[in-house]
Amino acid sequence: MRLFFALPLPPALATALAAHAASLAGEYGGRPVPAVNLHLTLLFLGDLAATDLPALLAAASQAAQAWPRLDLQFGPLAVWPHQRLLWAGLQPAVPKLAEFSAMLRSTVERAGFSVPEAGRPFVPHLTLVRKLTRLPEFLPPLQLPAWGATRFELLQSTRTASGAIYRPLGAWPAP
Ligand code: ATP
Ligand code: MG
Repeated sequence: MRLFFALPLPPALATALAAHAASLAGEYGGRPVPAVNLHLTLLFLGDLAATDLPALLAAASQAAQAWPRLDLQFGPLAVWPHQRLLWAGLQPAVPKLAEFSAMLRSTVERAGFSVPEAGRPFVPHLTLVRKLTRLPEFLPPLQLPAWGATRFELLQSTRTASGAIYRPLGAWPAP
């Protein structure tokens, strides 16, 4: 099972953001992320055995006790040229989100799981367009309302030719 922890978006905001993604893909080519797939990854786990799931869910529940309800605001759009990926960041920086991601990672590691690329810095981002055909030189910031990240989820990712399908396996609301 290919698994990751992420923050889902409120549906109305996902719809608005997906419309931006579609229009950016119209301008720069590539595949816009559909509303149902928009998310902010907290921690990528990679492939785990289904038998590991109960221990992982237990570790997540333990970490969830420190899950802070966060108000998040979209920041500038950016591109990772090598990945041909266009994403939206957060503004201002949200240290509590990075802290929670690190805490979730260490809780999961203490439960015996190894996290791929655990040393990589956490860059909160929402991928909007994949496989850009042209790289934009300037991107204006998105004008979208702030959103309350009230819960995080464990998602199973199944990758298909027409894009990934994510299935929630657990959800933890703010206490
Ligand atoms: P696809 O890979 O089919 O383009 P996807 O990237 O959405 O679709 P996954 O590769 O399963 O699907 O990734 C799920 C989430 O985990 C995405 O937010 C992705 O950016 C993130 N992710 C994937 N691989 C890593 C990794 N090695 N390190 C950190 N995050 C990752
Ligand atoms: Mg991927």
